[in-house]
Amino acid sequence: MSNPSLLILPGDGIGPEVMAEVSKIIDWFGAKRGLKFDVSEDLVGGCAYDKHGTPLHDDTMAKAQEVDAVLLGAVGGPKYDVLDFSVKPERGLLRLRKEMDLYANLRPAQCFDALADFSSLKKDVVAGLDIMIVRELTSGVYFGEPRGIFEEGNERVGINTQRYTESEIDRVARSAFELAMKRGKKLCSMEKANVMESGILWREVVTEVGKDYPEVELSHMYADAGAMQLTRWPKQFDVIVTDNLFGDLLSDLAAMLTGSLGMLPSASLGAPMENGRPKALYEPVHGSAPDIAGQGKANPIACILSFAMALRYSFDKGDEAARVEEAVNAVLADGLRTADLLGEEGVQPVSTSEMGDAIVAKLEASL
Ligand code: NAD
Repeated sequence: MSNPSLLILPGDGIGPEVMAEVSKIIDWFGAKRGLKFDVSEDLVGGCAYDKHGTPLHDDTMAKAQEVDAVLLGAVGGPKYDVLDFSVKPERGLLRLRKEMDLYANLRPAQCFDALADFSSLKKDVVAGLDIMIVRELTSGVYFGEPRGIFEEGNERVGINTQRYTESEIDRVARSAFELAMKRGKKLCSMEKANVMESGILWREVVTEVGKDYPEVELSHMYADAGAMQLTRWPKQFDVIVTDNLFGDLLSDLAAMLTGSLGMLPSASLGAPMENGRPKALYEPVHGSAPDIAGQGKANPIACILSFAMALRYSFDKGDEAARVEEAVNAVLADGLRTADLLGEEGVQPVSTSEMGDAIVAKLEASL
């Protein structure tokens, strides 16, 4: 049987720096756990524009469609701000998401013990937190028609339309139930069925899909109450599924319960391929951080945890994903901090590569 395939797109700014640390971990799994990947690497974003005059070459797009998972660093930078909208680095990322039809965006909020003091909430509210928000990514009010700013009488009116088909709700609900099956078997669906027809349909379809997953405990909550509950007692949740707009807000809220941008991974999943694996793109939430690029200051943990998500959700290696997460927890418990995580006095920051090496050392110690 051939090895699972990975396309690595480091991108711009700190992207290549953090991805270099992920490569150390991929190599470690190949050498020590017999988990070998066929890895190819390509350009996306500003560096692709520099070489090809486009932020995503057609050949790269075709490769992304073929592999088992894509791992992306970050794109963009001030050098490219002057470019026409159609060739800006971010267009490369948007094209990947669109053409791979990645409709389920997964944003975990996970609190590592050593960083519980970093949260703006009380330590006992966030310690041990591990939840996942699944946001519908390709439909809803950001895409619905009609949209625009129109003349109406003697004033203008701005219009956006919340629109969801049953099949769009069905497929993202299935992704969320599948995730819940791999986690704590609890799913909370959030909408505004009290005031929005699209919310009523959302609730009906999610309930219907739930009949195929009798092991998962399904609950429903209005999204505004959900925001309140997320800040009051987030540990009541395991997986949350919600639409594009509410998910945009709730995933940012949940992610920041646990601290720095340099720690936040994400995944975007699409329909299952022939081999049963979902189309998948894994990437840190942060951008290319031009202010610290090239200085060895970037925190590689968000990108490393994105790879851990790939292990769990594309390759069914939940135990190996947990091994990576435990290694991250262990280096943080030892007091290692990249500059973005400094808070305690007298702590000297470690560099990007020192953090990566320390995580590999903890993986080694886990054997
Ligand atoms: P950013 O996420 O790049 O940086 C925001 C702040 O967080 C900066 O101070 C940065 O130094 C810090 N930071 C981010 N990641 C870090 C890490 N891993 N370790 C330590 N510190 C980190 O957001 P921005 O400054 O708004 O955008 C910079 C560029 O990145 C822009 O061109 C933007 O368009 C692009 N961007 C790309 C993506 C993506 O590729 N998915 C996402 C957001 C922004």
